[in-house]
Amino acid sequence: EGFEAFKLNRQLLNAVEEAGYTHPTPIQEKGIPLALAGHDVLGIAQTGTGKTAAYVLPILMKVKYAQGMHPRAMVLAPTRELVMQIEEVCRQLGKYTDIRVVSLYGGIGPKTQIEQIEAGVDLIISTPGRFMDLYKKGVILTKELKTMVLDEADKMLDMGFMPQIRSILEVIPVKRQNLLFSATFSSKVERLSTEFLEFPERVEI
Ligand code: AMP
Repeated sequence: EGFEAFKLNRQLLNAVEEAGYTHPTPIQEKGIPLALAGHDVLGIAQTGTGKTAAYVLPILMKVKYAQGMHPRAMVLAPTRELVMQIEEVCRQLGKYTDIRVVSLYGGIGPKTQIEQIEAGVDLIISTPGRFMDLYKKGVILTKELKTMVLDEADKMLDMGFMPQIRSILEVIPVKRQNLLFSATFSSKVERLSTEFLEFPERVEI
């Protein structure tokens, strides 16, 4: 079975085909239907397994098209490099949608990022620190956030991002869908998943 078995829209199926994905990878096979059904998902999967598309496709399906000014989904990732890679997957798979994706990370001034957010954004991909900086400046309004992803959660915890993640969870709506991906399931990741996820479906590959 190919991607047609998932209830994705035509725009996404066309982009998937152009990306050269013929068959879903195991994490996609199991994760995409659960995420599309609205479950919280705990995904244990390494880089190279197709984990990014496993959460990007359901997000693009849910966000669907540009609407309003404020983000409706957000992905947090540990590093600028990973944020940029995720953005690339979103642009590739979202190429036939008008969804506005903005990437946020440190190491550069915030001016361009602020301008992009103020022009209207549907999906934010960010490192925890830069998100909180811009949130505190009043640049980002979180009331429309309905989907939240933590990618490479184990790496985020190893890098000491737990306090930032906790403060971000305090400023986003309580009622939302959560997806957590991690290469490993350490006791720290387990604790985070308990705080972050509600009745998660677990997918391990
Ligand atoms: P990731 O694990 O998300 O970093 O993805 C690893 C690589 O697999 C990326 O280069 C993707 O473009 C590619 N990829 C993801 N899903 C598929 C698929 N279903 N078929 C072929 N390649 C894929």
